[in-house]
Amino acid sequence: MVVDTTFMTKQHEKTKKTSLLIYHAQHLLTGEEMINNWSFLKDKNQLEKLLFQNPQKIVNKIEKITIQQPPLNYSSTASVKGEEEDLISAYTRKTNEMFGSNWPDFVRERINKEWKIIQGRYVFIYWLAYKVVQKTHQDGYLVGSRGSIGSSFIAYLCGITDLNPLPFYKYCHSYRYVEPYKSPDRIYSCYDYQDRENCPLCSELLTMEGHNLPFETFFGWEGEKTPDIDLNFSGEYQKTAHNYVRKLLGENSVYRIGTINTLSQQTAEIFWKEHLKLRKKFNPGFSEEKWYEEWIDKKKIQELQIKLKQLQKEKIQLEAEVKAMES
Ligand SMILES: [Zn+2]
Repeated sequence: MVVDTTFMTKQHEKTKKTSLLIYHAQHLLTGEEMINNWSFLKDKNQLEKLLFQNPQKIVNKIEKITIQQPPLNYSSTASVKGEEEDLISAYTRKTNEMFGSNWPDFVRERINKEWKIIQGRYVFIYWLAYKVVQKTHQDGYLVGSRGSIGSSFIAYLCGITDLNPLPFYKYCHSYRYVEPYKSPDRIYSCYDYQDRENCPLCSELLTMEGHNLPFETFFGWEGEKTPDIDLNFSGEYQKTAHNYVRKLLGENSVYRIGTINTLSQQTAEIFWKEHLKLRKKFNPGFSEEKWYEEWIDKKKIQELQIKLKQLQKEKIQLEAEVKAMES
C-alpha cells in the first residue's frame, strides 16, 4: 500500500508559483500522521482495520525475500558535454588557484590520468556530487565526504572531498612554490613529515601537502570496483539536498533508499507503549488483552514448553552422568 500524501517543504512553498512539482512526504509516517491522512474515510471501524489490523495480517502473509541489487551503471547514453565542461572548468580554476597557470608535471599527469577514466564513464556522478556540494556550500552548510572518493584529485579540485590525494609535496601558497618530496625514507603522507622548513623564495613556513592516495583506490587496480560517492549532510540540510537532487535529475529519477535497523529493547518498549497509547486514544474500547491473544500462537507456546521440559530433564541426566564419571 502506498500512502500518497502531498506535502510541501518550506523551501518549496517559496517557489511554488513557478513550479507545479509537488514533493511527496519523504519520511515514514507516524501513527498519528497515518490516521490524519486517512481520516477522510470517516469510519472508525474501517480505519482501525486499515491502519492497525490489516498491516500485521499482510506482514504475516509475506514470505522471506532476498533483495538483489543489480550492478550500478553510471554510463549515460545522453550527451554529457555540458556536465563535462562544468567539471573541466571547476578543476582548472582550482588548479590555477593552487599552482598558477604553469602546472607542475606530477599535477598535470595526475589530472590527465584521472580525467581519462572519469570522462568515459563517470562524468555524471562527479557532476552530481559537484553540483550538490557547491549548492550546500553556497547555502552556508558543511558537507563531508567519506570513503574512496578521497583518492581522487579531481574530486578534491571540484570540492567534493577535502582530502588532497597527491603524493607528498612541500608548498608555499604565496609564491606557489612546489617541491615534490623525493626520498627513499618511509614517508608516505604529509602527516608523516614533522620537520618545519622555510620557503626558499619568501622564507615563509612551508606547508606539507598530499596524502599520497593512488586513484586506483577508487576503481580498484583492474577497474573492478563500482565507484561510489558518499556525501554526509547536516540533519537540517539533508532535505534541501535531497530536493536539489530531484530538481537536477527530475522527480521520477530519484529514489530515496535506506536501511531499517533492528531496535534496542529500550526503544522497542517506547514504541510499544506509544502504539498502545495511540490505539487507546483512537478507540477507547480497544482491549490490550484481546489483542495479545490474537497475536500469540498458543499452540506453538505449548509445544515449546513441552520441548523445554524434555530438554531440562535431559540436561539433569547428562550432568548426573558427567558427575558419576568424574568421581
Ligand atoms: Zn614562499
